[in-house]
Amino acid sequence: MSAAESSPVTPANPLFVPSPLPFGLPPFDDITPEHCREALLAGMSEQRAEVAAIVGSEEPPGFDNTVVALERSGRLLARAWSVFGNLTSSVSSPRVREIEREIAPLAAAHSDALRLDPVLFGRIADVHARRHDLGLDEESVRLVERYHLDFRLSGAQLDDAGRARLTELNQELSALTTTFGQNVQLAMEAAAVHVDDVAELDGLSAEELAAARTAAADRGLDGWLLPLLLPTRQPVLAKLRNRDLRRRVHEASVHRASAGEHDNGPVAVRIATLRAERARLLGFDTHADLVLADQTARTTEAVDAMLASMVPASVANARAEAAVLAEAAARDGIELAPWDWSFYSEQVRAERYAVDTAALRPWFELDRVLVDGVFHAAELLYGFRFTPRPDLVGYHPEVRVWEVTDADGTALGLYLGDYFAREGKRGGAWMNSFVTQSRLLGTSPVVVNNLNVSRPPDGRPALLTLDEVDTLFHEFGHALHGLSSSVTYPRFAGTSVPRDFVEFPSQVNEMWAMWPEVLAHYARHVDTGELLPASVVEAVDAARLWGEGFATLEYLAATLLDQAWHRVAPDAAIGDPVEFERAALEAAGVASELVPPRYRTTYFNHVFAGGYSAGYYSYIWSEVLDADTVEWFKENGGLRRANGDAFRQKLLAVGGSVDPLSAFRAVRGRDADPAPLLRRRGLAPA
Ligand SMILES: [Zn+2]
Repeated sequence: MSAAESSPVTPANPLFVPSPLPFGLPPFDDITPEHCREALLAGMSEQRAEVAAIVGSEEPPGFDNTVVALERSGRLLARAWSVFGNLTSSVSSPRVREIEREIAPLAAAHSDALRLDPVLFGRIADVHARRHDLGLDEESVRLVERYHLDFRLSGAQLDDAGRARLTELNQELSALTTTFGQNVQLAMEAAAVHVDDVAELDGLSAEELAAARTAAADRGLDGWLLPLLLPTRQPVLAKLRNRDLRRRVHEASVHRASAGEHDNGPVAVRIATLRAERARLLGFDTHADLVLADQTARTTEAVDAMLASMVPASVANARAEAAVLAEAAARDGIELAPWDWSFYSEQVRAERYAVDTAALRPWFELDRVLVDGVFHAAELLYGFRFTPRPDLVGYHPEVRVWEVTDADGTALGLYLGDYFAREGKRGGAWMNSFVTQSRLLGTSPVVVNNLNVSRPPDGRPALLTLDEVDTLFHEFGHALHGLSSSVTYPRFAGTSVPRDFVEFPSQVNEMWAMWPEVLAHYARHVDTGELLPASVVEAVDAARLWGEGFATLEYLAATLLDQAWHRVAPDAAIGDPVEFERAALEAAGVASELVPPRYRTTYFNHVFAGGYSAGYYSYIWSEVLDADTVEWFKENGGLRRANGDAFRQKLLAVGGSVDPLSAFRAVRGRDADPAPLLRRRGLAPA
């Protein structure tokens, strides 16, 4: 943003009109946070007027005057959100956060009012009932179904009494989930482990000791403090030589928020019970059924079948790892306990799989990885070409812009890259869309990738870690999903697919990072130009497999726990939450003395405070699709245009406009097979 943030709103708000720039790239240089605020407010009121016109129409409800009109509505709001949403994540400031706090409740009320409008729902339901008799194409039928489901999940079909109860339930749940998250935070702070004697911290580096010292001082304590992190497994356990301290840290971790002032047990029980009641009110058996109605998996049976297929191999593999660790522990005269796992796991890793991944960075120079790796693979697979457009500016001087063209020279859209960490940018890596592709609106995609790579000293090239290389390929996979989009309705463009599907294409794109032909094209030493030796690549692969038994089992245990909590009946007598958890893990065959769930009930923020209730399974669900698709590429000759074209046309291009699993079957020729994922994780013979 170039203008002063406190400047008053100018009459010429650039967001009020479609951008005149190529592909509708927002004119970032001219847009201030105040413009965004003004456009968000005006955008909501504009959409209210548009919806009022649909609702008040004298014409009988039809596809065009109701569903398409709704799909077309809210353009100004969408334009303002795309720019403001990016401000909040990539170039935030105190003023941006202030606007965010002001707008968030207004935006929630805006979308509630829209989705709970009984007259609007009546018109949609009318079209929905006749959707197969209207001569609509497949994508249009799906659009009707999509809107109908959105409204039904929001409770638009309820009578006044039902609606009143739903509002009560939503309010109590909103308060409870906030309490749950705050309890986790407070209980976690309270459970930090205090150490008086520095000798007990043997194994930590000087830097880690200094951090522990500062953590103690920050709380006005003498000595050292080891704060807890999410999830269950604490990284510090891999290093601490003092066994008793390891035990204390482990126990503090697994008992977080399970007693006393910040006890989340009763909160979890209440949340599960109220969610169950809400699901029944909305016409579903359980909360899990309600959540899955909107997902690729569709049914609890499908989720159960997938998870069950992984349990035996994960349990067996974790046992095999435990046997190796028990042997290492026995050399120290120790009988392996849960708090010893990470410590001996690190020992075994260092002995068997000595790879210094930090030493690989000189082979991964950012621009080389991007142009000769990521772009190169996309060119070979899809025929895409990337031309720098230095004449187009991003929202920050570090943002770079490329124009993307198809193999036949057709202009497809824009790709923006914002790779460095900086103040005002949130952590992690992600892809965002500024403009989504749509034939209805005549728009082409403008997408951005964000990473958080450390900025190199002036004049030095930016070097990536191996993880950052994977991340770049991953996020670019999301960008490809957006850039390949070829749909009519913006509701279905690119990455607008269910949560348990959206990571799948990006995970697939990671396969090219280590693909020999691609690697040989980009992984050259920054000073010598030497190629990354194949032996190093093999060692990295081997090291990645160690610990997969533990990782898969702890993940599955948390996932099955999530499912158990969200399949209870509203009137179920849950009783003691700790006992509920124990019984659920036992019943699912994942109870293990040595491998506790990745999250236990009382600190499972994803499902009790975040948006992942009954959805924690989705990480591995999309990875099953990913691993099976990687096999398909390999079976068909790997990095070939024919493969890329098939994947693009049948899967990437259709976005959410067809059933995602049908799109998967169109590529793979059958349903997904979990075996490739088990092999990838070393859980089944290769
Ligand atoms: Zn992703």
